[in-house]
Formats: sequence, C-alpha cells, structure tokens
Amino acid sequence: MNVSLTNIELTFLGGAREVGRSCVSIKKKNKLILLDAGIHLGKVRGDAYPLEPSDPPNAVFITHAHLDHSGYLPAIISKYQCPEFSTPPTQDLGELLQMDFLKLQREWNIEPPYTSEEVMAVRSHAEDINYMVEINLRGGIRAMLLRSGHILGAAMVRLEVNNHIILYTGDLSTRNTRTQDMADTSLGKVDTLIIESTYAAQSDRHPSFQKVERNFIDSINKALDRGGRVLVPVFAVGRAQEVMLSLEAYIRSGVLTQVPIYIDGMIKKVNEVYRLYWSYLRPTIRRQIRYTRQSPLESDIFFEVYQRKGVNLDEPCIIISTSGMLEGGPVIGYLKQLSDDPKNLICLTGYQVSGTRGRRLQDGEKEIKLSPNGEPVKVDSEIKSFEFSAHADQSGLFRFISKIKGLERVYCIHGEEWKIVEYSERIEKLKKIDAYSPLNGETYLI
Ligand SMILES: [Zn+2]
Ligand SMILES: [Zn+2]
Repeated sequence: MNVSLTNIELTFLGGAREVGRSCVSIKKKNKLILLDAGIHLGKVRGDAYPLEPSDPPNAVFITHAHLDHSGYLPAIISKYQCPEFSTPPTQDLGELLQMDFLKLQREWNIEPPYTSEEVMAVRSHAEDINYMVEINLRGGIRAMLLRSGHILGAAMVRLEVNNHIILYTGDLSTRNTRTQDMADTSLGKVDTLIIESTYAAQSDRHPSFQKVERNFIDSINKALDRGGRVLVPVFAVGRAQEVMLSLEAYIRSGVLTQVPIYIDGMIKKVNEVYRLYWSYLRPTIRRQIRYTRQSPLESDIFFEVYQRKGVNLDEPCIIISTSGMLEGGPVIGYLKQLSDDPKNLICLTGYQVSGTRGRRLQDGEKEIKLSPNGEPVKVDSEIKSFEFSAHADQSGLFRFISKIKGLERVYCIHGEEWKIVEYSERIEKLKKIDAYSPLNGETYLI
C-alpha cells in the first residue's frame, strides 16, 4: 500500500553512497527535522560537509558522537539556533570530538567550519533525552530514541509523522560487545526505514567477537615474543574502550603477556565520560564496577601518557592511541618511530575510510606521508586488521529488518556505493520490500 497521502519529504543531504557527513532531512508542511549533521573525514572543505537543508530546521537529532554524525552540528546550531536532541553521553562525547576536530583542522591548515566558541554554544541548545522517552515536537510529529548498540549513548531515531513511522538507524550493532548491548529490536511497526550499510555486502561477515579478540591477543603475544612493540590506533570513542577492556580481561586471565600499556590522545578524556555515564554500559560491566568500586578502564595496567612523555619504546609494549585512521593525533608520532621495524605490529581495529592513511596501510602501501609536505616514511612493520566492528554485518542487518513489522520501504545509506546498491537489490529480492540507494541531494515523497 502506498501512503503518499502523508506528503513527507525525505531528503538525503549527506552520507548517501558514502561513509561520512551523515545528514537526512524530514519535512512535513512547514516543519523540517534534521537527522544527524556529520562531516566526511576522508574529504576536505566543501565536499566534507552536508548539503544545505531546503528550510531552516526546527530541530536536529544526533544519533551518536562520532564525527561522521555529529561533526557539523556546531555549524548548524550557529546558523539556525534550533534545539538539538540526543542522549547526554552523545552531547558530552560529541563536544570532545568536535574540539579535537578543530585541533586537527588547524594542524592541517584547513579553515574549520566553526569556532571553539560555536562548539561550546551547542550546549545552550541541547536537550537531554533518554531511550524510550517520547517527545512531542508539535505539528503532528513525535520522536523517540532507541538503543542502537554502536557506542556509549548511541541511538536510533523513531519519528512518528501523522501516524507514519520512520526509523533512522544511525550506526547499528547487532551483537553484544564488552561495553554495549546490541541494538533494541522490539521495534513494532515501522513504515519507512533508513538503514546504515557500512558492512552490507554479502562478503561482509563478521567473525564472532570472541574469535576476533582471541586472534587480536594471539597476534599481540607473537609480536611481543619476538621483541616487537605493538601500536593500536583507535577511535577515541568506543573502540578504545573495547580494546582496553579486552586487554584487561586477557591480562587478568593470564593469556596475554603483561607489558606496559600506554594510553595516549583524547582516550583519557573520553574515559572520564565513560566513568560519568557508567549506567549506559552493559549490565555485566555495570555489575563489575559496582562490586569492585572501580572501572576496569582505570586498572593500574594502563599508563596514561601525554604526547609520548615517559613512554619507553626500547622495550616490548603496547600503545593505544588516536586517531583510529591515522589522520592525526599522537599516533602519528608513534607510527614514525615504529613503522620501519618488521618486529613491530600495527593493529587496525576499525573501519578505514578510503583516502585515509589507515586505509592506505590496510591496502599494503609501503611508504606513507605523515604530513602533506613531508617526506614519506617506510612501513616495514606487520600490519593486521581486526574486525572489532561496532556495525552490523549483512546477516545482522537482515536479522534486524526481519524484526520490523509492516515495513513498506527501505533507504540504504552510510556505505560504499557498490555495497549499498548490492544490498538494496538483495532486500528487494529477499524481502519483497521497495528498497532504494539514494544519492546525495535526492528527495523522496513518502
Ligand atoms: Zn559511528
Ligand atoms: Zn557512522
């Protein structure tokens, strides 16, 4: 049944057939709601930001703090002064990441899209909402956030526009990790689904989390045994904490060789937010914190360092540092010192956007430039990728879709173009639901 009577305009302003600058607008009469306001980390300037909405937004929802979803928010708030809705951890983590983004832009001599004052000004427009609490936006629009399982505080947005239910997943995880329970799947009826597709290809199959962890720990043990040093570039939010908790658990059980573990970059500040919002963690870790009165992220096996001070790289050790795609931050200094020794191991633990240094290492490039005008450095160390992904793979995405009742159409976004096209075709074939691979700038009337 076509419900075109609702006359809702759905426009993809960013994140269509790409991973980055996620932004979707939902317009009904004179009301416009923005879902996410991200930046593209693999692009610079104009192409890195979402397209302009057709009208000033009445509200913006941010699903989670990662910059591809929250990185453009200060520019939107500064221009339109509209309210912003998200969970409290998303607000605090988003602010940290936006500030860090400004620092990186300055390092790269790129004019940032907003100032640090504009980042701070977001707070006065931000409204806290928790999962499962309905808010009335008036004009026949109601909204609710649901747990998406991706990182601390991450949410899906469920919008009810004159009885038409739209679900926007943001980034979605359909398996439990050390810090997060998987996405909420008690979704009831949904008419229109806008779903992420990062790992939507048929060839994308995540091994179990336990398997990934064992492989990660075995590889680290091997590198340490041969006298190597291990560099783990991580995203400060989410992946850093998952990696730290894995190492902590395997050291506690005696499986992983105990060597100094250095934590550098903004992970330290992010851990403070994790301490503050411990109630958003999984029940198992919540209980551990209650019983021991200490977060495992604060274990004394970790040494917090600032800009490599006090780090002894002459001995086997593990360094966990930002940024996860090696686009800046203290990890660059470590890479410079460690990349030419084949005994060393570099563990890539997250999705590497094309165009980034992390992706070039993953693709086997043996010479990497560490600054735009600098000389390239040789990469002889071992490079390994570990699928710690906080995104659902194709079977996870299909399992998620199967839980939804009454679904009429699906828009696939947030993924490489070929994956999105392949995935939407499979949804049509297997689920007999209209599925689309929209382009940026395209508007659909639903
Ligand atoms: Zn994310
Ligand atoms: Zn994302």
